[in-house]
Amino acid sequence: RTSLYLVPTPIGNLADITLRALDTLKSVDVILAEDTRTSGFLLKHYAISKPLQSFHNFNEHKILDGLIERMEKGEVMALVSDAGTPGISDPGFLLARACVEANLTIECLPGPTAFVPALVKSGLPSDRFVFEGFLPHKKGRQTMLRKLAEEERTMIFYESPYRLVKTLEQFIEYFGADRKGSVSRELTKMFEETVNGTLSEIVNHFKIKEVKGEIVIVIHGKTED
Ligand code: SAM
Repeated sequence: RTSLYLVPTPIGNLADITLRALDTLKSVDVILAEDTRTSGFLLKHYAISKPLQSFHNFNEHKILDGLIERMEKGEVMALVSDAGTPGISDPGFLLARACVEANLTIECLPGPTAFVPALVKSGLPSDRFVFEGFLPHKKGRQTMLRKLAEEERTMIFYESPYRLVKTLEQFIEYFGADRKGSVSRELTKMFEETVNGTLSEIVNHFKIKEVKGEIVIVIHGKTED
């Protein structure tokens, strides 16, 4: 029997919750949430009332053993993050690893995550790709960019709107101004926008006015010419 369900939640559009996610959240003993307030609102929207316990980057190490013990005694748990799939640039990995090591059964429900629609709608090769998540801000950033300049697969990054233009300018420095890319903003939401083109075209688009909303950057891999 399953001890832990990893349950994806919408990345904007509340209609994107799956029927199975709703059934699962209704069936478990406790819901572990990255932010109990955010998830509280979501659960209220779907009329689900369950005990919530906070599970985030700052307490996950501390509470891990206790959670595993409770699951070993038979408690069934679900983990949700603020948005999208747990474990994807969100807490989840440590708990999944601990369950695997304790031989507890895990299920991860398929569902919303920002990088898949960004990649697929970019029109860039999607047969092979690397998900880089958030680049390190300071330490290791240059080394990482130098390494990625040689990457031949399509690359996917998460970025904050405030840093988007700076990051694109850095990509131009390392990957060249003519490298093709795609930036998706506010996926599944009212003001969803995707800008495709060369890195210099894309940066010019976003330089014009203040960038708002959530962002995924997709970059073509290195080609021979
Ligand atoms: N767990 C999430 C997932 O499965 O995609 C990612 C969580 S991460 C903390 C948040 C980042 O995901 C944002 O900064 C943005 O880069 C990306 N993101 C989340 N929702 C998005 C959306 N609706 N449109 C574009 N990017 C989004």
